[in-house]
Amino acid sequence: MEGLYSLLPAPAIVTQESDPAAYKVLTSFWAAQLNLSPKAIVSPPDVKTLAKTIQYLYSHTELDFAFRGRGYSSLPTKDVLVSLHNLDEFTYDPDKQTITVGAGQSWMTVYEALERLAPNYTVVGARTPSVSVGGTVVTAGFSWLSGKFGCISDPQNMIDCEVVKYDGSVVWASTEPALLWAIRGGGGGYGAITKIIFQLHPISRSIYYGTVIAPMSALTEVTHRISEFSTSTTVDPGVSAFMFIQREKFRAMHESNESKGDGDVLVFQLFDLNGETHGRQAFSWALELPGAKDFTREGSMLDVIKIQDRVSDLIGTSRQNWATIIVPEFSVSQIQHSAQWFKDLGTHGNSIAQNTYMIYELFCTKDSPTPAQLSWPGPRGCKHMLVIGLGCDLNAADEVIQRAQELAQSAPSYLMGDDPRITPTPNAIEEWSDLSKIYGDNYKDLLKLRLKYDPKRRFKGSIKITQS
Ligand SMILES: Cc1cc2nc3c(=O)[nH]c(=O)nc-3n(C[C@H](O)[C@H](O)[C@H](O)COP(=O)(O)OP(=O)(O)OC[C@H]3O[C@@H](n4cnc5c(N)ncnc54)[C@H](O)[C@@H]3O)c2cc1C
Repeated sequence: MEGLYSLLPAPAIVTQESDPAAYKVLTSFWAAQLNLSPKAIVSPPDVKTLAKTIQYLYSHTELDFAFRGRGYSSLPTKDVLVSLHNLDEFTYDPDKQTITVGAGQSWMTVYEALERLAPNYTVVGARTPSVSVGGTVVTAGFSWLSGKFGCISDPQNMIDCEVVKYDGSVVWASTEPALLWAIRGGGGGYGAITKIIFQLHPISRSIYYGTVIAPMSALTEVTHRISEFSTSTTVDPGVSAFMFIQREKFRAMHESNESKGDGDVLVFQLFDLNGETHGRQAFSWALELPGAKDFTREGSMLDVIKIQDRVSDLIGTSRQNWATIIVPEFSVSQIQHSAQWFKDLGTHGNSIAQNTYMIYELFCTKDSPTPAQLSWPGPRGCKHMLVIGLGCDLNAADEVIQRAQELAQSAPSYLMGDDPRITPTPNAIEEWSDLSKIYGDNYKDLLKLRLKYDPKRRFKGSIKITQS
């Protein structure tokens, strides 16, 4: 550990003793159990210092270390957490309509800068504004715009990125095409991404978006409407929506306080690039539900992503296990079955019921036009996701923790069946996830590239390479 003090300025090293408040923030993870109380968090102020830090940690120590974007699906570490949040540059090239952004910043910062510098253009960035740019790139990345433009790391969106490799060398990934391929959704573990070049797209400033809240009594009708919507072949690619049964704890997942005290309600988040008139028609099935409260309006992409700007309040407040899958459609029976399962979670105890969320995400992804250029080969004919976070209290008993994990493992096939097109997503991987299902034929090539870019097996990534 002492060696780190000679490489980094003192404020860039945070310990529990040196700054308890900063330590708490930097060791907060969405899944609270991933905080193994590392000995130190280092936040290199620039690429040169990051390169020296990585080279030192990788080749001159036995310390356990990991990279942190914003902690929404970080990998745990015992010794040193390398937080990349100081990598926050932003440059705009109006001739090429590209931006170059530091990988450690949140998507909120990027959208705010675009609003100032290029308000009629946008970037394909995360829906949740508090997640980091680098973290979404290595996990493919899903945006409100993905139904139209694809994933964040697809070549039409992410052009190139700069990487610090294990030996401290710094390269543009395009100079090593296999590295760029692996970074596009390959789960991390190939080096630290420092900055990324993104293509901008022209965008309307009158996007239709916002929340609709309906009473639980509308669930039967909603089930049929969502199923019809999910199988429609005429939905415009600029249209996307979420629906979830709100649990009180997760009220910060949407913008409206109007549902406070209403208990369980149905929440819709609507999005239509084509503006209000088109959006009201596309979503008439939700807007006209009996008892629906309508909080939708028009605004810019920055306004849209702010719908979820309170999500960060929930970080580290529960133990969490992913059970998220990409699905081709939501049939009536699948929605009925999953909604009933969710409502019945109380049979496993309050701790699980109150800390679990489930979101039907409609038209949130599409096949890539260039799948050969991606390590995550894309959704393969699927446009929707069922996002499930199976949680329990921070201080839950061992048997509750185990039960939550068992439910997370069994939920995908129990709720949605065994259609081979249904796969886990690359941004919600657990140790039990079947990686060959996610990466298909690319899995074996990714294993080789993990070893090439991590010969001593010191980095952490979704794809594990263990000593053999
Ligand atoms: C509430 C919630 C909302 C979410 N919203 C979205 C969303 O809108 N869109 C979406 O696509 N996903 C979303 N996710 C899924 C997923 O957690 C994130 O996409 C992703 O993990 C980014 O989160 P992060 O910035 O916190 O990165 P972390 O979770 O900290 O890191 C994720 C992985 O990337 C690695 N990593 C991070 N930065 C770098 C870097 N610069 N170089 C190399 N490796 C790096 C880490 O080591 C780790 O393995 C969400 C998850 C949650 C829990």
